[in-house]
Amino acid sequence: MTEHAVVIAGGGPAGLMLAGELALAGVDVAIVERRAGQELESSRAGGLHSRTIEVLDQRGIADRFLAEGQSMQVQSFAGIPLDISDFPTRHNYGLALWQSNFERILAAWVGELAVPIAREREVAGFAQDDTGVDVELSDGQSLRADYLVGCDGGRSVVRKAAGIEFRGVDASTSWLIAEVEMDGEPELGIRRVGGGVQALNRVEDGGPVRVVLTEEHLEHTSEPTLQDLSEALIVVYGTDFGVHSPSWISRFTDMTRQAASYREGRVLLAGDAAHVHPPQGGQGLNTGVQDAVNLGWKLAQVVNGSSPDGLLDTYHAERHPVGARVLHNTIAQVALSGTDERTDALRDTMTELLTMDEPRKRIAGMISGLDIHYDLGDGHPLLGRRMPDLELVTADGPLRPFTLLHDARPVLLNLGEPGSLDITPWAARVQLVDAAYDGVWALPVLGDVAPPTAVLIRPDGHVAWVGDGTDLGLHDALATWFGPPVWPNQPSASQHERRIRARSPSDQARSQAGATPSRHPRR
Ligand SMILES: Cc1cc2nc3c(=O)[nH]c(=O)nc-3n(C[C@H](O)[C@H](O)[C@H](O)COP(=O)(O)OP(=O)(O)OC[C@H]3O[C@@H](n4cnc5c(N)ncnc54)[C@H](O)[C@@H]3O)c2cc1C
Repeated sequence: MTEHAVVIAGGGPAGLMLAGELALAGVDVAIVERRAGQELESSRAGGLHSRTIEVLDQRGIADRFLAEGQSMQVQSFAGIPLDISDFPTRHNYGLALWQSNFERILAAWVGELAVPIAREREVAGFAQDDTGVDVELSDGQSLRADYLVGCDGGRSVVRKAAGIEFRGVDASTSWLIAEVEMDGEPELGIRRVGGGVQALNRVEDGGPVRVVLTEEHLEHTSEPTLQDLSEALIVVYGTDFGVHSPSWISRFTDMTRQAASYREGRVLLAGDAAHVHPPQGGQGLNTGVQDAVNLGWKLAQVVNGSSPDGLLDTYHAERHPVGARVLHNTIAQVALSGTDERTDALRDTMTELLTMDEPRKRIAGMISGLDIHYDLGDGHPLLGRRMPDLELVTADGPLRPFTLLHDARPVLLNLGEPGSLDITPWAARVQLVDAAYDGVWALPVLGDVAPPTAVLIRPDGHVAWVGDGTDLGLHDALATWFGPPVWPNQPSASQHERRIRARSPSDQARSQAGATPSRHPRR
């Protein structure tokens, strides 16, 4: 049976991002993906929020996406626009980029990292024991893995086979979404008519029309047809505008559900497999990619033997509340989408509120993902929040913290007396950088905060410890997040080192140089 350290079910946005994160850490990871390529049947996500762009910047790949999309103010709450151009981030905007393009660019990066993808087959089930997981594939073969991650979308087979409850709110509305030709000339734009929010827009000048419209009925037993679309257009607009030649027709609802647990032993969930919600606010893909970035380095450290398995529990502890908040705000946005007089009045009130600075910053901070705060205890406001990408000065010249995160390795940034912090027992795992910064420390939503003398930055860009002129609590934080101390002459029996020793000398050299080992067990 072929073995991998980690098998990922599903190579959509979450699965690809997770695979990249694991490969950067030298983990033997493989993806099993149902589709033959990254093409999608429908348009799905239309863009990236600021925090996702930052996360990609932390890996040095944001420019690839920025070059193919359109940077603009994309944030909105129930369609009420939110401007973040005054937010203290290099990426104070969102990116209009269709999901198919996002996946193509991300898959190319994962390809460069030499992650094997077993295409046109599915994960059909699994059985886990104390030492690993047997992953059953649809072609009758099996894989053995230390861990299995279900990134297999809202109908996740992995979640169901793990017996994890998918709790939440049933759908109240069904929408058709399609790309079609029309003989008539419909009025383009977003309109709140026919009992909901309806959209007709041309994909490009003279190109097909992209339609989003509510359906009369919620329950459906078959895939949507041109006839369904024509009937729904007549209900809403009184005409079907001579609709014909669909490129694709799809359907979505406002069903809102979240996995009760993101972990069951050696099986974990990320992305839509862990949470589904309506697309209002455009947060699904973004949340899934950020799940993957929270999980990736933790899983790598556990697989590599530098951290105990309990580190994986922090994945649920940190990401479940983030997902729950996204679900909550999408439910509120759907509630504000009604077309009756009472909802109109509530919407007017909300629109007025969001013209005020404080409410706008709060809601925009949430939708953009820039305000995410993991509960790492009391202390400096930076603790648990994203590290800002400051213009640092080092003995070797200017440096950005995001650049230090390109290899997904933790960083201790010493902004005090150079050489004043000693992390010898973690020196092989954590980069120690002496730097200076004289500017303002500003956080989205919170504003200016007191300058720290040092910050310990996790590979996902969140701050795990903040210095106040001493190293009080630093060693505890290092042990919590990056494993117990290993003294220079102390023999380490870590699984990772055993694995590295087992590799060929050329693989070891490549690995030490930061490259991905070439030896992946073959399918
Ligand atoms: C109409 C619409 C508009 C949206 N707009 C936005 C938006 O503007 N912004 C935003 O952030 N999000 C948006 N979303 C949500 C976004 O599309 C999803 O959140 C995102 O695709 C989730 O990524 P994922 O990798 O978790 O799951 P998926 O994209 O569903 O990927 C799952 C992958 O797993 C594969 N797979 C499934 N089962 C198996 C199996 N058993 N074995 C192997 N492979 C399997 C699938 O082929 C797929 O490639 C929208 C969604 C819809 C429907």
